[in-house]
Amino acid sequence: MKIYKIAIVGAGPAGYFAAQALQNLATEEISFTIDMIERLPTPWGLVRSGVAPDHPKIKSVSKVFEKVATTDGFRLFANVEMGSDVTVEQLKERYDAVVIATGSAIGKKLGIPGEDLPGSISAARFVPWYNAHPDFKDEAINLNTEQAVVIGAGNVAMDVGRMLALEPSELDPTDTADHAISALKASAIRNVVISARRGAEDAAFTAPELRELPKLEHTNVIINRKDIDDAFARVGDSIEKETKSNLDAMALIADKEATSHDRTLTFQFLSTPIEIKGNGKVEEVIFKRTGSDKTFSIKCGLVITAIGYEAASLEGIPYEKGRVVNVDGYVADNLYVVGWAKRGPSGVIGTNKSDAADVMNLLISKLDQPKGKGDVTEIISHNKVVTQLHWQSINDAEIAAGEPLGKPRRKAVSREELLNLGAL
Ligand SMILES: Cc1cc2nc3c(=O)[nH]c(=O)nc-3n(C[C@H](O)[C@H](O)[C@H](O)COP(=O)(O)OP(=O)(O)OC[C@H]3O[C@@H](n4cnc5c(N)ncnc54)[C@H](O)[C@@H]3O)c2cc1C
Repeated sequence: MKIYKIAIVGAGPAGYFAAQALQNLATEEISFTIDMIERLPTPWGLVRSGVAPDHPKIKSVSKVFEKVATTDGFRLFANVEMGSDVTVEQLKERYDAVVIATGSAIGKKLGIPGEDLPGSISAARFVPWYNAHPDFKDEAINLNTEQAVVIGAGNVAMDVGRMLALEPSELDPTDTADHAISALKASAIRNVVISARRGAEDAAFTAPELRELPKLEHTNVIINRKDIDDAFARVGDSIEKETKSNLDAMALIADKEATSHDRTLTFQFLSTPIEIKGNGKVEEVIFKRTGSDKTFSIKCGLVITAIGYEAASLEGIPYEKGRVVNVDGYVADNLYVVGWAKRGPSGVIGTNKSDAADVMNLLISKLDQPKGKGDVTEIISHNKVVTQLHWQSINDAEIAAGEPLGKPRRKAVSREELLNLGAL
């Protein structure tokens, strides 16, 4: 029996699915010991810090991750960062293969004047703020304004728009960070515009998420029927199935009987932001009607851009266009990459499963004799490593704290608080 030592860096969906694939591919001849390294004191990546708190069912995939983590041969090393606590070279020397699964967490920029004014922020900072990510708990978000603009045409833009426009007490039974629930309850925002550069036919929203919107009990959701009719006309008969179901979902919203709640979420299409203006802070966004020279402005005190993510570069790993340079997940030597770090920020949680399985098949095909010597424990110089047992204490404590409040969990926010719950 050959036993190979594999290090996986990043405890998000891609990392867990890679580990699961290795566990499934073990035979009587070969098996794997897996050490998973995660920079935060908590695992699960964007399932904890990205997925919207008002969509709790999506987070049930964490049960799969926990099954992987409690299978023999798997060890978690959370609160350990590659870059500062360990280097990729140190890992490559000790493991038969190293799998990078660090995601892509930096928000892409629009590159227009005024983007850096206070009041303009990326979804890559706003989303982890409401999801209790320790690094973003102190973000200054200007909610003291009646109108907000969200720029983007994907599900992240929709999540952000919905979080700003829903009645905040709807968040009470969710695992939204306490600080975010308080801030949103005090928010003056009543109108949120989600603005897409292209037409409705090109929007990257997905139909199931669109179909959730009319269920908001305290928010008017507005889509102009003409935008959808024009989109159908532009695509004509050769419409793809996915585009059709998206446009159908948008048409349902457009045709819904008007409501008169306090809060409104409006979709606008074919509008390119060209400048964010204001005296020391965001006061308006200037748009150009896409394909024409006509401009118009929306007054607002908050602009959130949700136009994609790129990976942070890590020393010793080749990067290009916001991703790790790779061929089908192979980087170089005994180094591999999976998930958003490999593909860029596309695909839902499940996309990472087949993708990671393909890369792990490739990894196995390239394995020679087991050579791994030593492991990450020789390198880490602090004593605050969150192991699976520590994480289970944190997890149990959060769930127990949420129970009397009717929440799935009450998230601890700071690193200190999390480590305390883990008795570290
Ligand atoms: C706001 C948002 C909402 C989403 N909502 C949904 C949804 O509702 N449904 C759905 O199916 N998909 C959703 N997705 C997509 C889904 O989250 C991704 O497909 C998935 O998380 C990508 O997995 P990953 O493992 O590649 O990256 P991530 O989930 O980002 O995980 C990467 C992990 O690596 C860690 N890491 C980073 N750098 C280091 C380092 N140097 N050392 C150690 N660890 C490190 C990070 O802390 C993180 O835990 C959403 C994405 C976003 C951004």
